[in-house]
Amino acid sequence: MTVRRIEVRERVMEKNDQLAAEVRRRLAGHGVRALNLVSSPGSGKTLLLERTLQQLGSELRMAVVTGDVQTENDADRLAKWTDRMVHAVVTGGGCHLDARQVSAALDDLDLADVDLLFVENVGNLVCPASWDLGETAKVVVFSVTEGEDKPLKYPKMFRMAKYAVLNKVDLLPYVPFDVDKAVEYAREVNPDLEFFFTSALTGEGMESWYGFLRAQACTPAET
Ligand code: MG
Repeated sequence: MTVRRIEVRERVMEKNDQLAAEVRRRLAGHGVRALNLVSSPGSGKTLLLERTLQQLGSELRMAVVTGDVQTENDADRLAKWTDRMVHAVVTGGGCHLDARQVSAALDDLDLADVDLLFVENVGNLVCPASWDLGETAKVVVFSVTEGEDKPLKYPKMFRMAKYAVLNKVDLLPYVPFDVDKAVEYAREVNPDLEFFFTSALTGEGMESWYGFLRAQACTPAET
């Protein structure tokens, strides 16, 4: 029997990459950098963004696109901390955001009035690694309540990311998490990964995250 190869996925990815390139051009046209936050569910992306909006809202013009499989709960949480529109994407089962959804959100945004765009991806360490959204960089968020071998288990995500946030460091005294090992594993798959160690809950380590975001907002995006 002969084998017929199905190429639908390749076509879908190709279309996505075209749209992502277009998103990247639109962002660059306005000098806006976009950070795509990726993680497993429950690592604290939404709280990290809530605190960021609260802390930097008077300095930076930040726009947010947030994705969830179901509910707009995260968008509702984020909307409390900003007067700007929060774009909620409910994927209805989809395990990642795609460039079409980000592009649609940009249609509704005045990019001339934005310094920094955050995309909070669907909580999943596999699918979002393969989907370019036109972002400037992926930021992988993980927490000390997870295994320190996450970078080895999900290497593609850690390889695709430029920055890593290790969150919930306030819980370190109570959990058997080895920070040095986690960093070592992460650098094994991506030697250039730049780390932040934070507790969005207590504020520990958040100053360096805020400093990084201020610098990002002042650096024009490249195409
Ligand atoms: Mg969330």
